[in-house]
Amino acid sequence: MLHISTPLPSKEEVHKMVLEWGYVPIQPPAGIDLFAEIERLKRAKNAVLLAHYYQDADIQDIADFVGDSLGLSQKAAETNADMIVFAGVHFMAETAKILNPTKKVVIPDLNAGCSLSDSCPPEAFAAFKAKYPDHKVVSYINTSAAIKAMSDIIVTSSNAVPIVGALPSDWKIIFAPDKNLGLYVMRKTGREMLLWEGVCMVHTIFSHQKIRALRLQYPDAELIAHPECEPAILEQADFIGSTTALLNYVIQSPRSRFIVATESGILHQMRKAAPSKELIQAPAEYSCSCNTCPHMKLNTLEKIYNALLYEAPEVTLSVDIMEKARRPIEQMLELSRDLGLLSKG
Ligand code: SF4
Repeated sequence: MLHISTPLPSKEEVHKMVLEWGYVPIQPPAGIDLFAEIERLKRAKNAVLLAHYYQDADIQDIADFVGDSLGLSQKAAETNADMIVFAGVHFMAETAKILNPTKKVVIPDLNAGCSLSDSCPPEAFAAFKAKYPDHKVVSYINTSAAIKAMSDIIVTSSNAVPIVGALPSDWKIIFAPDKNLGLYVMRKTGREMLLWEGVCMVHTIFSHQKIRALRLQYPDAELIAHPECEPAILEQADFIGSTTALLNYVIQSPRSRFIVATESGILHQMRKAAPSKELIQAPAEYSCSCNTCPHMKLNTLEKIYNALLYEAPEVTLSVDIMEKARRPIEQMLELSRDLGLLSKG
């Protein structure tokens, strides 16, 4: 990061830095209390800080709301704040902008992408969709705004099974982009779907053999897994669910030991909510920290401070894409409310 003394750079200078770096690379003044300064800026600018469960513990602790994609979408749609600071990845900040287009949406680092979203490029997907003109498109929320704009309804890992199960039985469905979630939804609903071949780089690295060995070592432990994991992991799981569902499961289960097959950031909330439970991170195929999402971890307290102070990098989208992408997201929120998956209002 750059050390810059007062006066603060102009908007044009900040814009140039964001173009070059993807974030504002200015070192906050030495010795400041970043937590206190972030709180002060949030109040001064009427900003809300939304953080995904996969963010670092410090970021989760300072956020106004921590959640998974579904919960964060709902908060983004409802907020009265003037500015949304989205500590997550790019498609999530885009979703916030689509749902609340009059708000300024900033993200700490524009480079925070998503391997799953990137595995579904809009041009290739448009060509695929064109081959099946009688199919409806159900897209996972982990997609770019351009893919959402080509979709009939969006789902998250929290609601994919009930939503697909509730869709008209004569719908022929393309499901994109996560093939593991798609296979899981097919198994749970009995619906046939055409699957796009995308995967998440984090959820596909778990070793089913090492997990089997762990289960022999700890026969009392339950394996809980996110549906983006490979079928070999899901087949041995005692419980499968979204990050929120996994968190609730750990809190409510009478068991005291869990092997957790999802991104490691959720363990912070699990430890806070259920401090007596023992949590074992599911091991990866190779010795690495691959169950930590490198995209999510690009966000830092310094970048959040800068995003608030300089109101950059801002997430912007064309009106046309926002309008087309909003319809399937609102369909999801509406159907989720009807199915009792969201709080009303
Ligand atoms: S954990 Fe996977 S799906 Fe989630 S943001 Fe990271 S790469 Fe994308």
